[in-house]
Amino acid sequence: MPEPENVTIIGSGPAGWSAAIYASRANLNPLVFEGAITEQNRLNGTLPLGQLALTTEVENYAGFPAGQLDQFLKTAIDPDRIGLMPPLEETRHAVTGPELMELMRQQAVNFGTRIITDDIVSVDFDSRPFMLTSLEGKTIETHAVIVATGARANYLDIPSEEQYKNQGVSACAVCDGALPRFRNKPLVVVGGGDSAVEEGTYLTKFASKVYMVHRRDALRASKIMQQRALKNEKLDIVWNHVVDEVLGNDTDGLTAVRVKSTLDDTPRVLEATGMFLAIGHTPNTDLLRGKLSMNEKGYIQWTTPYRTYTSVEGVFSAGDVSDDYYRQAITSAGTGCMAALDAERWLVEKGL
Ligand code: NAP
Repeated sequence: MPEPENVTIIGSGPAGWSAAIYASRANLNPLVFEGAITEQNRLNGTLPLGQLALTTEVENYAGFPAGQLDQFLKTAIDPDRIGLMPPLEETRHAVTGPELMELMRQQAVNFGTRIITDDIVSVDFDSRPFMLTSLEGKTIETHAVIVATGARANYLDIPSEEQYKNQGVSACAVCDGALPRFRNKPLVVVGGGDSAVEEGTYLTKFASKVYMVHRRDALRASKIMQQRALKNEKLDIVWNHVVDEVLGNDTDGLTAVRVKSTLDDTPRVLEATGMFLAIGHTPNTDLLRGKLSMNEKGYIQWTTPYRTYTSVEGVFSAGDVSDDYYRQAITSAGTGCMAALDAERWLVEKGL
């Protein structure tokens, strides 16, 4: 049996790569399981590189102002991986999510991070070192683990929605709201919680009007957010309705959303260029149920404030898998850095 790993990182979004960059620069020789390329992962939105790989332009990641990035990308990223990114578009305004993830991955590789393109499917946190098993049947012994498996946005799961993803359907207003196709046009937000109000309010900055489609006659959002929604003249709450079908065509993408009343099934068509889902997220923690302490929604709990410690000593968590509140690339990257520093100090403390 080879020597146990110092630290194994599960996940390949901004938290995973930031953890890998810090751990590799600390000479911990980290191993990253970036996820498997399977149809199941594609359908779940859990392919390698995480949620950012599913977005378009990223305008709010500090350090990447709009500009001519092509030359930088071509020189920074391994030529073999350039072809894996969507083609560089002349019209884009900022770095894209897939590009940002490739840059982070490359940065981790540059410092010696080893990567396995496979899922971890079971963990044994009772043994020391810990034992991890992958989809392909590899077993890994490791002293420390950083869980950075992220979360996935919930979608409505209707066929027309899938068809217009990235052509009008989005689950992240902050990521996509300012794109040209959404400016000065009517938009639809689905949901009635704090996220729906927050995203709807945010979108009114760009849109001519925002329909907020909610399935009940009362919002789930907090009182202050409700007041904000009701006061906003550009936000039109479509009570007691659910989305029936996304309408559009190949050239224009999404052009309208057909909704129906939950009271009497009456249909109504809302002309719009975008539909934003704000119906919650699901953390990617199925594999860890019963192994780590989680909140009622399945997010891994940090057991000490401002530390990435979990309920198992030597297991750390970072990014959206522990955060149902901020959910930003930059906050994930920050906690990835914290997890690597926490793991490094823990390994030193234990003399491992
Ligand atoms: P949430 O509170 O779970 O709300 C989800 C909303 O989507 C609910 O209104 C729900 O309807 C609706 N919904 C769920 N599934 C649906 C479906 N299949 N079809 C149609 N509608 C559906 O989620 P969230 O708004 O993302 O908030 C998550 C957490 O983050 C909350 O604790 C929230 O307070 C917090 N947060 C806080 C802020 C802030 O304070 N600024 C901002 C964002 C989020 P029902 O109401 O009928 O269940």
